Amino acid sequence: MIMPQESLIVEAVPVLGDNYVWMFACNSNEYVAVDPGEATAVSQWLNERGASLSHILLTHHHADHIGGVAELQKKYGAEIIGSQADAQRLPILDHAVVEGDCLNVGECQIKVIDTPGHTIGHVIYRTADALFVGDTLFSMGCGRLFEGSPDVMWQSLQKIKNLPDATKIYPAHEYTLTNHGFAITLEPDNQELIALKKELLIKNDNDTPTLPTTLATEKKLNPFLRTEDSQLAEKLGLKDKSPVERFAILREKRNHF
Ligand code: ZN
Ligand code: FE
Repeated sequence: MIMPQESLIVEAVPVLGDNYVWMFACNSNEYVAVDPGEATAVSQWLNERGASLSHILLTHHHADHIGGVAELQKKYGAEIIGSQADAQRLPILDHAVVEGDCLNVGECQIKVIDTPGHTIGHVIYRTADALFVGDTLFSMGCGRLFEGSPDVMWQSLQKIKNLPDATKIYPAHEYTLTNHGFAITLEPDNQELIALKKELLIKNDNDTPTLPTTLATEKKLNPFLRTEDSQLAEKLGLKDKSPVERFAILREKRNHF
């Protein structure tokens, strides 16, 4: 059994320009894929390892997260796991899950956390030290509010914030450099953000993923997780606003960045 304090080995399959399909094994030679937006690259990745696909975890219904499901299911007979609340808009689910569910997949225990906001039925998955956050949280950013109000998304982000600092965060998109650009316009004097820029540019030039990030890092650098930081609020002239109001204003600014 893989215990919560252990480190899960997770690998990235880049697809569709800036999406990542995260892959991890719960059995020897059988993998779980998170949000396979495309099938070909995932099949090729499995082929290279002589491995199979036993399960697919879906965070939400957008095409760039489910586009490869039908083909992968046909090829490997993988079981599909997704939110019961969004069953209508997701591919046919083998396991329709809700908040608090705990799935036993091989040696992994996978916990389901409801995070509405980007979409109403968005869920994220936690196993060992890994958190697969789909389009809820990005490094230094968060998902667009397509279906949820700022209040709903803020609550979802608070749930993530309450997890252990060492949690490794696996978002579905490589948006780090752009998000860093936004974060530094808010706080041009933040030494940690300044120091990070060079590293991000090198990774970008080499097509190296900047992910995973950790919750500890995001709590320090992600403006959307820092709505209760009074120093930051002061710098932004938002001290008289509530954390949710600050969040709404920052998300709106980011939409126009
Ligand atoms: Zn999405
Ligand atoms: Fe997406």
